[in-house]
Amino acid sequence: MLNDMLNQIIDAHPQSSTIHIGADEVFYIGQCNKCKSIMHKKNISNDQLFLTHVKTIASQIKMKHPQLKILIWDDGLRKIKEEELKNSNLSKLVEPVVWKYTTDVTRELSTELLNKYSNVFKGLWFASAFKGATGSFQYLPSISHHILNHESWMKTYNSYKHKGLVEGIFITGWQRYDHFAMLCELLPVGIPSLAYSLAVLSGYEDLNSNTIVQLLDCKNYLSLTSVNIEMPYCGYPGAEVLEAVLKFHRFKHAYYKFKESSSVAGWLGNYNNYYNFSSPAIIDWILTNLNNFLFELANIDSSMCKAMIKIYDKYTVLEWQGTYIKPLYKDIDKMMEIANRLFSIDNWPRRP
Ligand SMILES: [Zn+2]
Repeated sequence: MLNDMLNQIIDAHPQSSTIHIGADEVFYIGQCNKCKSIMHKKNISNDQLFLTHVKTIASQIKMKHPQLKILIWDDGLRKIKEEELKNSNLSKLVEPVVWKYTTDVTRELSTELLNKYSNVFKGLWFASAFKGATGSFQYLPSISHHILNHESWMKTYNSYKHKGLVEGIFITGWQRYDHFAMLCELLPVGIPSLAYSLAVLSGYEDLNSNTIVQLLDCKNYLSLTSVNIEMPYCGYPGAEVLEAVLKFHRFKHAYYKFKESSSVAGWLGNYNNYYNFSSPAIIDWILTNLNNFLFELANIDSSMCKAMIKIYDKYTVLEWQGTYIKPLYKDIDKMMEIANRLFSIDNWPRRP
């Protein structure tokens, strides 16, 4: 099946000179009975089983397409000793792509690791992230995090370029963490972060200047930390999605602040709900607020759908809505139901 998949991808890209075959996060290799019996029969370790698998796949590609350069993610190689990597002859078949998405890549990728790769392989690649990587349930990228990630990679590149091994960088952007995970930051929402990341990689000095804001055709400065939620009003294709997501972010913030407010906590708490005991005047005020929130959420929901459907299929729109907006509707409905019941009560027992 793997070979079929690879052949389909290769056939679909006849111009391509390079293929990335993944091979990252292979957490479960060596655990099933089939793996265990191979390891036992050949007297090999988990790492050697991994290397054998990658070499088998890579040799099959090389046999049919000797001109293709084959890349793999590096995490499966991080713990393997230099000698063992050399002896495996893996470097005749593939080149590693070293990934790290944190703000200080050298803190986790040691000099020894990069030196080991430099000693073993003919070429080396880096991988950064402009969105994703900071939370599987996140709809806004923290631009400052991704700027730091790219600055950190540039520093690493500058200290390794003299070896002439580094061939390039993969700027990754995640839409979800894996097949089963929910949607994280959408591409149109990540475009500003991509612009800043590219600026860092191309050696741009002053990230605070107007140039990027102008390039993205924004009326206001972009928030680099996603804490400041002023509307940037950008003009790049898909910017309406960013605007709707920012409105949603602002809404969510205000709604949770309201839920934690003194009025809601003191008059719509569990005790009030359980004993049907609350002040109608305050419940009335809470109901007015909940109605306003519901109205505003419906507006955001509609702008988000309108903006998304220009770019995505209906399944993606429904998934985003179901992931981020629908739970808030449900939450407001639940609060309204309780508040309405408490509001309808017109006699209360004396306090003991
Ligand atoms: Zn297995």
